[in-house]
Amino acid sequence: MATSDILQKPLQYLKGVGNKRAALLASELDLHRYNDLLYFFPNRYVDRTRFYSVKELSMAPAEVQIKGQFVSFREEGGGRKKRLIAEFADETGTVELVWFKNYKWVERTYRKGKDYVIYGRLNWFGHRVNIVHPEVEQLSQFQMHGYLGLVPVYPSTEKLVKSGITNKVMRKIVFNLFEETGRRFPETLPYYLIEKLNFVSRSKALYDIHFPSGLHDLSRAQYRLKFEELFYLQMQLLYHRRSRKTKIRGHTFDKIGDYFNRFYHEILPFQLTGAQKRVIKEIRRDVKTGVQMNRLIQGDVGSGKTIVAMMSMLMALDNGFQAAMLAPTEILAQQHYFNLQKWAEPLGIKTALLTGSTKQSERRKILPELESGAIQIIVGTHALIEDRVKFHNLGLAVIDEQHRFGVAQRAKMWKKNIIPPHVLIMTATPIPRTLAMTHYGDLDISVIDELPPGRKPVKTVHMYDRQRVTAYDFIRKQIQQGRQAYIVYPLIEESEALDYENLMEGYERVRQAFEPDGFKIAMVHGAMKPVDKEAVMRRFKEGEIQILVATTVIEVGVDVPNASVMLIESAQRFGLSQLHQLRGRVGRGAEYAYCILMTDNKLSEEAKIRIKTMVETTDGFRIAEVDLKLRGPGNIMGTKQSGIIRLKIADFVRDVPLMQRARAEANRILEADPELKRTENQVIHNVLNHLLRKSRFWSYIG
Ligand code: ADP
Ligand code: MG
Repeated sequence: MATSDILQKPLQYLKGVGNKRAALLASELDLHRYNDLLYFFPNRYVDRTRFYSVKELSMAPAEVQIKGQFVSFREEGGGRKKRLIAEFADETGTVELVWFKNYKWVERTYRKGKDYVIYGRLNWFGHRVNIVHPEVEQLSQFQMHGYLGLVPVYPSTEKLVKSGITNKVMRKIVFNLFEETGRRFPETLPYYLIEKLNFVSRSKALYDIHFPSGLHDLSRAQYRLKFEELFYLQMQLLYHRRSRKTKIRGHTFDKIGDYFNRFYHEILPFQLTGAQKRVIKEIRRDVKTGVQMNRLIQGDVGSGKTIVAMMSMLMALDNGFQAAMLAPTEILAQQHYFNLQKWAEPLGIKTALLTGSTKQSERRKILPELESGAIQIIVGTHALIEDRVKFHNLGLAVIDEQHRFGVAQRAKMWKKNIIPPHVLIMTATPIPRTLAMTHYGDLDISVIDELPPGRKPVKTVHMYDRQRVTAYDFIRKQIQQGRQAYIVYPLIEESEALDYENLMEGYERVRQAFEPDGFKIAMVHGAMKPVDKEAVMRRFKEGEIQILVATTVIEVGVDVPNASVMLIESAQRFGLSQLHQLRGRVGRGAEYAYCILMTDNKLSEEAKIRIKTMVETTDGFRIAEVDLKLRGPGNIMGTKQSGIIRLKIADFVRDVPLMQRARAEANRILEADPELKRTENQVIHNVLNHLLRKSRFWSYIG
């Protein structure tokens, strides 16, 4: 059997596994075939070259290895506390080893007077120490298995350990895998690359990652495997992007016409920022090429994405096309509609709003006008995606806050035309460039990294619960000056009932504190009907309500420039990107704005970093960098659905330089050989084909 076929064998056939263990490996670790196990890498290594003597233990690290013999066994305690205690000795003294489980087996198996290697974690009780459930291996076995160097530690679960699949067992199973496969695996990188970057072979890298004979071999193995992982990730993204650019036709917007020019000269109420100008130029360049644009605009809250969207839509109109803008919620769609209409009306552009709550009679008017082309710009929610919504000639679709729309949903928009519309995705969730490069690697990215002039950063402070009176006094003064305030409570799925209780209590407390001042207070939360939510939001926007008590439903995009205070209760429970989004709700007017992060006294280390970061900076990209470091890329907002960024060995934060290298190499190869037809690239071609069959991309056309 060829090695590649062997690697497809189900794990139950591997020596040392069998049906029961195979089921556990599948359910606990998602390991099914030989190949999965081959790529199941240790998450750390312990140095087992060092032995401690019993006498040295008081100065030893938490995990130690000792060599010696069993002197005696005794059982102690009763019931659940029943345990086996073994005295284990070397020339310098004795230490106690303790088992709460399987002790009959231990007593039967381990012999007095034989040499063993013990490995485990030290527990100190004053001056006394023991090791509970140590790893035990006969010295002769230990030497034979070549464990005298770095020993891999595999990710595991409690259930696995309880079922006897300890790290030691894992090691044996992986060892058997290498035995059965003869340790030889076909090469997956071209030889010229291996030579150029001085990599070890795939066979050696895979062996060494599991059984390194030392740090040198380990780091060379890691280097090659990380590179390979990042290389193929970038290869997929770049290949996909290239084929999109060569194969997917797009509408050509040749000219800049009246709509665009008149808007720019007569209507635009301010100077564009440099960043806005640059992004508009980037878009302009895309829509001229005859290839479909798929561009993402990343811009912090308040950076002025809406204008950029508007001007892009005018490019479509100038060339005789329609444009659409999709928003994730009713409130946002209405807000966009309100703004766009204000700008479009003086230009004589016909606009419409279509959402879930658009009345039937209204809808019956809109749909035919959209199909005839009379309506030039339409703003809406998911309602726009429904099949009965037909366009005359949709030239551009702008999607705000893309992470709420799935790939498949967007693909539905494409199908509305034979030639797909250009697509502009706008997101206010900054993600670090390095991550964007991968996560959105198949899209083109524009960044608005400049706020309109005169915008003052939101002053942010951290307060403890006991300082609430001070916080309330501050809010009172702001409202007396004519401003408005948000007070936000966490609402987390896992503790929803309790959170609602807190919200209600909080609402009562706010009312008691502020109603005597004659202030109007209202509440919005996710369980309310959309119409009721809208009504409250509208009253807040119109200034009828001074304090809005809310859950995170106000997070995205809602614009009330007069609001100047954002008080976030239990701020330690929010993630960084959420805190940043919430804070972005204030500071949208010209005057100073404030954010108060209220917490209790008991803050975890991570929560402290989050709060500190928020107090120190308002730069969304910096906040995103910290967030990435704290939580890892898989949890960054909006990146969950993609499924393309689960890395096995490389790390998005630490391996940025390597990722850039991998991307550059992939790019170079595709430049020279776009279809990967050359003999020397055959191997890339094969691996890539295999990978592309399994993945989906943001701009996937379904
Ligand atoms: P976001 O990127 O969060 O969607 P908006 O497009 O809503 O930001 O813009 C935020 C506010 O800044 C709006 O009131 C908008 O009119 C204003 N604005 C946008 N661009 C500029 C600019 N170049 N100069 C001054 N104000 C601007
Ligand atoms: Mg916006």
